[in-house]
Amino acid sequence: MRPFTYRQGTDAPGAVRIGIAAPATTAYLAGGTTLLDLMKLDVMRPAVLVDINPLQERHGGIEPTSRGLRLGALARMADVAADAGVRRDYPVVAESLALAASAQLRNMASLGGNLLQRTRCSYFRDTSYEACNKRRPGSGCAALEGVNRIHAVLGTTDKCIASYPGDFAQALIALDGEVETLGPDGARTIPFARLHLPRADTPEIETVLRPGELITALFIPAGPHTRRSTYVKVRDRESYAFALAAAAVALDLGPDGVVRDVRIGLGGIHYAPYRATAAEAVLRGRPLDEAAAGAAATAALAGAVTHGHNDYKPELARRTLVRALLQAQRMRI
Ligand code: SF4
Repeated sequence: MRPFTYRQGTDAPGAVRIGIAAPATTAYLAGGTTLLDLMKLDVMRPAVLVDINPLQERHGGIEPTSRGLRLGALARMADVAADAGVRRDYPVVAESLALAASAQLRNMASLGGNLLQRTRCSYFRDTSYEACNKRRPGSGCAALEGVNRIHAVLGTTDKCIASYPGDFAQALIALDGEVETLGPDGARTIPFARLHLPRADTPEIETVLRPGELITALFIPAGPHTRRSTYVKVRDRESYAFALAAAAVALDLGPDGVVRDVRIGLGGIHYAPYRATAAEAVLRGRPLDEAAAGAAATAALAGAVTHGHNDYKPELARRTLVRALLQAQRMRI
């Protein structure tokens, strides 16, 4: 690990002042569960770490209101996953957090950091590989001809086929979440669907955050669909593994079983958090059964491009979405 300077932010404006003084070489430290890993691997090399954990009291809350759910960016994954109100009113949020990482990591990791986690592509994480456009722009992509079993099938380009590894992000994009930030131009709110760049055109730039901009909170609007929601995650082992395919689903069903509204986020298959709007359009106004779920899943995966080792992913993702939709339909709320 390279030497770095440790600073502490005592409040959000103070932390951002440090962050924007030298944004190219400064990183914010919350749980550190991704950042410190990547620093040890020499993939990330910040010269200054700004510890934002002192902000947790002000920016770590879980605040349900009639308008929706506001979550401090420094709330710990485990606390939100275990919150009784979140589990009852936004189960897809609680489940996506509970199924991520390990218990130890969930106790440490913050929501904001979780959203900004980097890809698990092994060529990105191993600096002995020269070719990685995400780590070294212009160097190529070793995964294109390499081992690409966990890589994306949507949103990719010949510059990068990495998959976005997060779970919570799929719940957030499905529920029209928003991100509150503080940056060089003050506070702003960004629809979560616009936080990440949706295609691998500039792999080294992953979000629209400005240099030094800090995520302070997340907001999820209330709606008739949030209680009938669930997260299905398929992975190599049942704990402490990243999604090969995942589906975040929220349903508003009429008394006749017709889909009044549906929200779908898909994980493990796309370059960025992915809202499957084409699948939603197939389902709205239609009774939900296995055939309808299958048609929606086929629409969600239209245009998938595979690279050999990940040829299995489109079918796995289709089946995962069908299972999630039927599971949400069966929920007693
Ligand atoms: Fe790097 Fe992306 Fe290629 Fe992986 S898939 S080697 S992260 S450019």
